[in-house]
Amino acid sequence: MKTNVLREGWLLGGALLLGAAAGVLHLQAEDSKQPAKKMDQKPQFEVQLPDEAWKQKLTLEQYAVARQAGTERPFGKVYQEFEAQGEGDYHCVCCGVRLFTSKEKFHSGCGWPSFYDDSADNNVLERVDDSHGMRRVETVCKRCGAHLGHVFDGESISAGTPTNRRFCINGVAIVFVAKGEKPPPLLEPTSKEVKALKEKVAEGDKQ
Ligand SMILES: [Zn+2]
Repeated sequence: MKTNVLREGWLLGGALLLGAAAGVLHLQAEDSKQPAKKMDQKPQFEVQLPDEAWKQKLTLEQYAVARQAGTERPFGKVYQEFEAQGEGDYHCVCCGVRLFTSKEKFHSGCGWPSFYDDSADNNVLERVDDSHGMRRVETVCKRCGAHLGHVFDGESISAGTPTNRRFCINGVAIVFVAKGEKPPPLLEPTSKEVKALKEKVAEGDKQ
């Protein structure tokens, strides 16, 4: 009888050990999955168009900056225009949503349009950007993911502003709407405009 009890005990112990080992293996498998999952996760934007459709809608420079995270030349024509603009709002060149207003605009002298904050609508998303061997914070349109520029904290050139932040924005990624003027229509994913853009792309593919 004793041997039987012992054997059963061993069997039980072995089963428990196997179960525990399987559990650990299972956990490890879950863990090893997680980083890959995170890397695959791109924020889902409300407005998403194929690259080719954005190319149809935008100029070459707007496309290179807003859809390919490019940077416009500092102190260019768009910057001169920005410096001369009065009261008004700044909308996304891609989807038309309001991003900044002239209230948060300040002269930083850096050569790119500068704001110390985004507009109260809160349509600017900040995310870490490790490109070009630097850690920076990229700013994108929350609605369509358009690259706008970067935001810098605690610099001497923004020290006099209420936030001590500088949203360093590409002028070609934003559209100025003077106070009292009609803002551009919001680009809706199901709109006629988007349908027409996609049709143009499809025609181009056929040729
Ligand atoms: Zn947008």
